[in-house]
Amino acid sequence: MKLSTLIATCSLAAALLHSSMISANPLSPEAAPSRPKNIVIMIGDGMGPAYTSAYRYYQDNPNTQEVEQTVFDRLAIGSASTYPAAVSGVVTDSAAAATALATGVKSYNGAISVDTDKQPIDTIMELAKKRHMSTGVAVTSQINHATPAAFLSHNESRRNYQALAKSYLNTDADVLLGGGKKYFPAALIKEFEAKGYHYLADFSQLSQVTQPKVIGLFADVQLPWAIDEPEANRLSLMTSKALELLSTNQQGFVLLVEGSLIDWAGHNKDIASAMAEMHEFARAIEVVEQYIRNHKDTLLVVTADHNTGGLSIGANGDYRWDSQVLRNISASPTTIATEAIAADDWRTVVESRLGLSLNESETRQLANARMQGHKVLDNAIKRLIDTRSNTGWTTDGHTGMDVQVFATGPAASLFSGYQDNTDIANKIISLLPKVIPAQQSQNQDAPKATKITGVSQEPKGQSLTQKPSAMNATLTQ
Ligand SMILES: [Zn+2]
Repeated sequence: MKLSTLIATCSLAAALLHSSMISANPLSPEAAPSRPKNIVIMIGDGMGPAYTSAYRYYQDNPNTQEVEQTVFDRLAIGSASTYPAAVSGVVTDSAAAATALATGVKSYNGAISVDTDKQPIDTIMELAKKRHMSTGVAVTSQINHATPAAFLSHNESRRNYQALAKSYLNTDADVLLGGGKKYFPAALIKEFEAKGYHYLADFSQLSQVTQPKVIGLFADVQLPWAIDEPEANRLSLMTSKALELLSTNQQGFVLLVEGSLIDWAGHNKDIASAMAEMHEFARAIEVVEQYIRNHKDTLLVVTADHNTGGLSIGANGDYRWDSQVLRNISASPTTIATEAIAADDWRTVVESRLGLSLNESETRQLANARMQGHKVLDNAIKRLIDTRSNTGWTTDGHTGMDVQVFATGPAASLFSGYQDNTDIANKIISLLPKVIPAQQSQNQDAPKATKITGVSQEPKGQSLTQKPSAMNATLTQ
């Protein structure tokens, strides 16, 4: 963050907090505080602006004239640039973007909350723990994937999955929900249990948990595609349980929720699965929106880490995007391909799953692809869906465009307008309460940490315990 931006941000924060302090009715118990007690950060991985627009048309009720607003339209407030540290150019990966969002410092692609000198940088989760707040993550990827890992841990490479899994033992995180059994062998789970964690190996156990700490791993790697199990509603249920468990801490909490598989669908250039993952993420946001209606001391900030696939709504000079094609599809292309390869009457299977009749040339193309195996058929089905819906893609990787920022709750207006992804983290850090001295925190009568005493106890948005190299990186980038 540039110093001038920093000063502007801090004065803006001061002005906003000041004005809302004056306008709030001190007698009304309903009045929302200016500084949040709890912070929920939600990241749609790969969810560039094309995804939220496409989702609007995908969700639109075709029987009404108007295009209905989505939760994204309701909460939209600003935008953010996503470029990583200069050494990695302008197109970020999920690790560098998550590092920026978790620490306020830009780093190289692949970095898990270490700076360009590979030195660890304090994360929002760690700063929250120093304030005796609870922390948690709920994601649809493995819990040690780049985004959650950058909020909880440090590593010079996102690919060091085993080391990241093991490092979670020392994070003191209260709630860990998602996939990743593959990376948490029985011996490691035993160590978590020795630290007081309750281990959930099956999603059906989630509803029975009544208190932290909990580690729930519901798949070997990522959770199933939402399009294949639309009623499962896993991200919403994990979000709602995480809120319930973390709420027990009077000092407040920081929760990270990630719609991880939006990005995975984007890499696969799979618009049908991408829209279902968007819906999964949107419903989880609505869970938090509802929570905030009842807990006015909770701030929600939603953003994306980057844009994936160069998704376009309309393609090839044709002014058309047919979302009904997508609404008719009842399984992911990969599942449809598996079913079609197993079936003699494969054409009926594909037509029923896609909710359309194949014409002769489509039938020929799919028949050819089917002869070449699952991967080729899966791709052929995705291209057929693209042609029918007129969806475009420019890459199977990421693009460098800005992403949107959505927020509601106390201090939400801090996140309005254009900002850098590091600014988002620095603003959130500035909203954390003062560090409570150890002897005071043990005293039950100690004043609440949420008391407003000024905008930023850490005017640079950085912890005072942060390493000098990280501070320098912030000031020079
Ligand atoms: Zn990605």
